[in-house]
Amino acid sequence: MTIACKPSAAVWADIRLDRLERNIRAIRALLPPGCAFMAVLKADGYGHGLPETARTALAAGADALAVGTLREALLLRGASIRGPILPLTPCPPDEVDIAAENGISLPVVSRQWLEEALRRKTTRLPLRVHLKIDSGMGRLGICDGSELRRVVAMLRTDGGLIAEGVYTHLATAGQADDSFVREQHRRFSGMCGMVRDAGFPHAVVHCAGSAAALRFPELALDMVRVGASLFGILPVDDETAGGIELPLAQTFSLHARIVQVKRVGKGESVGYGRAYTAAEDEWIATLPIGYADGLSRRCTGMPVLVEGQWGVIVGSVCMNQCMIRLPSFVPAGTRVTLLGENGGRSIPVKRMADWIGTIPQEVLASFGSRVPRIYSTGRPPD
Ligand SMILES: *Cc1c(COP(=O)(O)O)cnc(C)c1O
Repeated sequence: MTIACKPSAAVWADIRLDRLERNIRAIRALLPPGCAFMAVLKADGYGHGLPETARTALAAGADALAVGTLREALLLRGASIRGPILPLTPCPPDEVDIAAENGISLPVVSRQWLEEALRRKTTRLPLRVHLKIDSGMGRLGICDGSELRRVVAMLRTDGGLIAEGVYTHLATAGQADDSFVREQHRRFSGMCGMVRDAGFPHAVVHCAGSAAALRFPELALDMVRVGASLFGILPVDDETAGGIELPLAQTFSLHARIVQVKRVGKGESVGYGRAYTAAEDEWIATLPIGYADGLSRRCTGMPVLVEGQWGVIVGSVCMNQCMIRLPSFVPAGTRVTLLGENGGRSIPVKRMADWIGTIPQEVLASFGSRVPRIYSTGRPPD
């Protein structure tokens, strides 16, 4: 006997590529003229999926793409996506040939990394590099002038290297106090000056992610690297968010269809540990989504939308299921929305993030491959 199993519409993420495109155009419109736009699509396009987001970003006018890893960059090349791609995490030095052969740029985060990479490089194809400066983030990058001078000297003597860019990353761009942003910019400017004076006047200089690109036009420099805001998220403090007047639309919504509905009598319990007790006779529905799908166990108590009305997640979230209290009876098969719009109301990603004590980016990155992405350019399916 064969069991027909079409890709299930039991749980899905609806990805609005039209909104992604609109967000990109809106952000671009705020940038100084001539500033290039790098769309940052790490973590599988902030959970939205590669290569669909990459295609949309390029169609909307992005000049370059950044991804998390060389593997993600290769996935894009495999999907026939051309144009500059920069993985933000350095690859092992023995993978530089793969990068060169596929026209993928790489970050140079230290003299040691570059030496090892050159020792292992066998192809005669050029390797495009962006020098990563650690101006205060304390994560990756060349930290001081003497190391930078030695890296630049290697670039000058090795004909197989193309110095495409110089960049840094800001640690506090989303915080109200901008003093450390200014300090990082000051340090970075000094390092950039060294690179330019050493014979690379055309290296593309970049430092701004979403927050800096939206808050400080003077830090847009030659290029911005925008990630979160592509997807309608402002990666800034609540007090800073009020100062940014940019209509961005949420591109990600999450839905599940009710598997079963039951009447639970007053005083009866629901789920593991009897963590929830019905306060009166209630309609409880079971959804086929749980923490293995990316729905945090801390989502207990979170509001959800059922035909435009508020329900709530009750009891402990299970591995592949969770239970909700319905606002009123609906039949099994009804669509329930955990993120995004339903019946004229909406749940922002930020709301779930606040609820579980994290940031919206972590929420987006948490819904893994068990949740199929459905790409649409209009209204979510009913
Ligand atoms: C993630 C990342 C970005 C994009 O940041 P957003 O705040 O999501 O716009 C830019 N540059 C680097 C180095 C990053 O790691």
